[in-house]
Amino acid sequence: MVISGDWASGDVSGIPDPEIPANSASVFGSESGGLLVGCTGHVVYAGDGFELTINFSNPFIGGNHAEMSIVGPKSHHFSTNAIAGNGDQKAHFEYDCKPTAVAEFQDNWRWCERCTSLFHAGDSPTGGRCPAGDEHNRGPSSNYLLRWEPPFTGQDEWRFCVKCNALFHSGGAESAGHCPADGGTHYRGNSSNYFLPMDDPNAPGQKDWRWCVKCACLFHTGESPTGGKCSRGDEHDGTPSSNYTLNFT
Ligand SMILES: [Zn+2]
Ligand SMILES: [Zn+2]
Ligand SMILES: [Zn+2]
Repeated sequence: MVISGDWASGDVSGIPDPEIPANSASVFGSESGGLLVGCTGHVVYAGDGFELTINFSNPFIGGNHAEMSIVGPKSHHFSTNAIAGNGDQKAHFEYDCKPTAVAEFQDNWRWCERCTSLFHAGDSPTGGRCPAGDEHNRGPSSNYLLRWEPPFTGQDEWRFCVKCNALFHSGGAESAGHCPADGGTHYRGNSSNYFLPMDDPNAPGQKDWRWCVKCACLFHTGESPTGGKCSRGDEHDGTPSSNYTLNFT
């Protein structure tokens, strides 16, 4: 469903389909009418759990540009590709958005050897913002797996903080805890909803992960319920926390 758009800076020769069913294609045109006008614009489609934005730019002089972006909790269900054709008039733009196979778990979650929190920085060994200063560093950390697809088990509302890259428990709110990036609260942004095995002796993986009552992060300091470095100062405190288990490869 189109929820907003702007393709008016050239003469419009066709308008975007208001709905594009799954596994189908749609074509629309935006044609430059006058001299030295060119066409630019964007269209936003909303789907179940995602929002897709298509940008196009065909200036009268200069290269054409196509862009496609997808955000939302289900954005990882799709792969996107945008191709801008050549030509100053009647250029052809192609946009692909396909469902991709989604694993039950997201990998590349890491234990930070500096603050002992769990963080995600893609393939990079460092990233985000560490309460110990600078970026988190995974050091010799295992590759931990978090459940983000069915079958859902365990405790939900664990979220990725877009400001510091740590995992925190949101309690269902958009923000919670204490973030080292700006001294405010962690913020989930478009984070997926992650599920963690809680007080489950049969869950496979590493036990003794704890929720910090001070900053809301998940951290690991062996069998001790305190340790590491907390963004609220001193050590994390997981004394009142349940015992969480993380699967790893
Ligand atoms: Zn850290
Ligand atoms: Zn944060
Ligand atoms: Zn803490």
